[in-house]
Amino acid sequence: NAPLPDAAALLDRRQCHFARPQKNYYRKPPEIERGWKEHLFDVEGRAYLDMVNNVTILGHGHPRLSAAVARQWSLLNTNSRFHYAAVAEFSERLAALAPEGLDTVFLVNSGSEANDLAIRLAWAHTGTRNMLSLLEAYHGWTVASDAVSTSIADNPQALTTRPDWVHPVVSPNTYRGPFRGEGSTVHYVDAVAAKLRELDEKDGRLAGFICETVYGNAGGIPLPPGYLKAVYAMVRARGGVCIADEVQVGYGRLGHYFWGFEEQGVVPDVITVAKGMGNGHPLGAVITRREIADALEKEGYFFSSSGGSPVSCAVGLTVLDILHDEALQENARTVGDHLKARLQALGQKYPLVGAVHGMGLYLGVEFVRDRETLEPATEETAAICNRLLELGVIMQPTGDHLNVLKIKPPLCLARESADFFADVLAKVLEEGW
Ligand code: PMP
Repeated sequence: NAPLPDAAALLDRRQCHFARPQKNYYRKPPEIERGWKEHLFDVEGRAYLDMVNNVTILGHGHPRLSAAVARQWSLLNTNSRFHYAAVAEFSERLAALAPEGLDTVFLVNSGSEANDLAIRLAWAHTGTRNMLSLLEAYHGWTVASDAVSTSIADNPQALTTRPDWVHPVVSPNTYRGPFRGEGSTVHYVDAVAAKLRELDEKDGRLAGFICETVYGNAGGIPLPPGYLKAVYAMVRARGGVCIADEVQVGYGRLGHYFWGFEEQGVVPDVITVAKGMGNGHPLGAVITRREIADALEKEGYFFSSSGGSPVSCAVGLTVLDILHDEALQENARTVGDHLKARLQALGQKYPLVGAVHGMGLYLGVEFVRDRETLEPATEETAAICNRLLELGVIMQPTGDHLNVLKIKPPLCLARESADFFADVLAKVLEEGW
């Protein structure tokens, strides 16, 4: 038998040539080589439960998707300047998923690109640059999507390095923000109004507003009730475009809703989507109204070499078919509700559990040292994640204080796997950290 490759030596090789700002999970990560449904397997055959992979919504190694990709690759792959059926079919399917009026689609390769393009559409449509965004947000790494990202967990310098067209408003975090509970909506809406008044004193013109419709980056916290209705109205009153970043929370993950904006009872002007829509294949889209899409022509044509390629469209169409045929949104709802109840029960027993946020298979367990002061249990969260790895569960922290477990597994998560996760977390909380 050939000797197993040395995982530590391989990690050293990675550090040699792979640029440092590209971080990896864990100081001593397992070297994984295979995936199946919600499980990953390392080179020694050890199984891990993947509770963090928000991209692979169908699960790892899906045979129907692999077969569709292989077939399309062997038939044709080119770019969307050519005429082929898949680009028409996929655009049609995406438009059918969006609310009425949002019938025009751009196909790109990632969430960052989708948000970048959405911001450029807002600029082109309004003829101005000012964008409102939320503090604690992450929207991508490209120039414009990064500009509206203010999460200090992702970039410690974020708050001092935003360009002057970015106007972040207070994060409407009803758990630990300056205003708490359901009645806090009016205060968070007032904060947006105050920001708009500040803007009036300068140039005053507004291109748009971008936010996640369930606050994924902050730990899966729903926005306060009525928040988006009020903010979208204020933005539209100034001619601005409302962009819903559904990259992480949209496409069925919430179980109870296909899109996060449904939870707020609003319809955005632009939807951005990526991640799960390709199940890991680079795929993203912007869905909007015809007149907003057409405005881009003022700035030139749009072309993406692989956005909307036959292979990408085959992936997108097959993912939608499998989502439907395997009732994965329904699974996210039932297994997600069950898991949330189990996690809430842990909160009854362990004071470290400050709250369980989210819905469907987008949940966040927030750890605090004190339920009154809400002091974030950052080091404890890191230690818990490391211990979970030893026990066979992949889990990572999120939020500006890195004290929230970001629970976003494949949507095919079995009830038994949800129970395994809750049991192992209970064991870790019982052991201490
Ligand atoms: N928006 C949100 C809400 C995200 O979570 C992410 C990725 N974490 C992005 C945009 C960027 O997507 P991508 O990594 O595909 O560029």
